[in-house]
Amino acid sequence: MMKYGRVFNFSAGPAIMPEEVLEDIAAEVLNYRGSGMSVMEMSHRSQVFQTIRDKAEADLRELMGIPDQYKVLFIQGGGTVQFAMVPMNLMKNGTACYIETGAWSQKAIPEARRYGEVIVPASSADSQFSYIPDCSSLDIPENTDYVYICENETINGIAWHTLPDTKGKTLVSDQSSLFLSRPCDVSRYGLIWAGLQKNVGPAGMSVVIIREDLLRDDLPQYVPTYLRYKIHAENDSLYNTPNCWAIYCCGKVFRYLLDNGGLEAQAKRNEEKAAVLYDFLDGSHYFQATAAKEDRSLMNVRFVTPSKEEDAAVIAAAKAAGFENLKGHKSVGGLRASIYNAMPKAGVEALADFLRKYEKK
Ligand SMILES: *Cc1c(COP(=O)(O)O)cnc(C)c1O
Repeated sequence: MMKYGRVFNFSAGPAIMPEEVLEDIAAEVLNYRGSGMSVMEMSHRSQVFQTIRDKAEADLRELMGIPDQYKVLFIQGGGTVQFAMVPMNLMKNGTACYIETGAWSQKAIPEARRYGEVIVPASSADSQFSYIPDCSSLDIPENTDYVYICENETINGIAWHTLPDTKGKTLVSDQSSLFLSRPCDVSRYGLIWAGLQKNVGPAGMSVVIIREDLLRDDLPQYVPTYLRYKIHAENDSLYNTPNCWAIYCCGKVFRYLLDNGGLEAQAKRNEEKAAVLYDFLDGSHYFQATAAKEDRSLMNVRFVTPSKEEDAAVIAAAKAAGFENLKGHKSVGGLRASIYNAMPKAGVEALADFLRKYEKK
């Protein structure tokens, strides 16, 4: 048990946030820096809030090195809204390629099919999404508007470590569960989006990083005002009342990452943390990691015991010992430890120790 009676929280999302950030937010919750009110209570048109929003964007731009020709948008509705917004806004020719690598790319595909033709040039469905297919030489039709990937499959625990060759077509990536976990060359993408409750802040909002030439005026009439990227870009994400509180909390996390060495340093910490758990699993005769070694996620570590019953027994024993949310997603079962940016190395070491002792018994 840690400070404030907090547990080691391995939730896949909404997920752990840095303790220092939560303390900082707590100190400002009743009276934000002499404004006499909470960020939850202030106008989104106020100068105080405008400063919070601008700073959050500026810090994210610095953190990721986002080039000038990209817009940063804060959009409500979480990840699922982006499954629809991407095809609504980007399907100009009415065709897109989606790489199928697990539960979240599988959810994006039928949503895109509402708006146009979806081609699936590569899939790892043949092995329960335990690997990323080879995408070095995809068959991509000439009229394809974009190639879509889910860069880290939160449920299956696999991640892209080499981006696909899109044959010059726009790359769109769902980065929700690895956002800000490693350096990212934004210029390789047309659009990056991330639901923020996995690796950054509160649920209910996504950040969208979009290259300016993809902002369109000529959208079909039916596309709702709120679901047009251009509307958000022209209004600094303040077209209507935004999720002010989430923008404020995410801004704190962006600042925290900058103050702690940026994404290079964070990536190094994440590699060390993941190695603690994967090394243990690789040496174990009882627990087994499910993802192909070269495609392992550093954020969501999925593993199993020899049976469902034993999986359940381990999860119960771990919970009793203060390790929360180790149950795998209901669609795949097993165990999953989500070890996002904010999970301290001590938490991963404690879990590996616990599992080692459990196995011995
Ligand atoms: C959680 C998640 C989503 C969906 O996010 P919601 O905010 O629940 O709609 C989409 N993609 C990935 C990779 C996720 O992990």
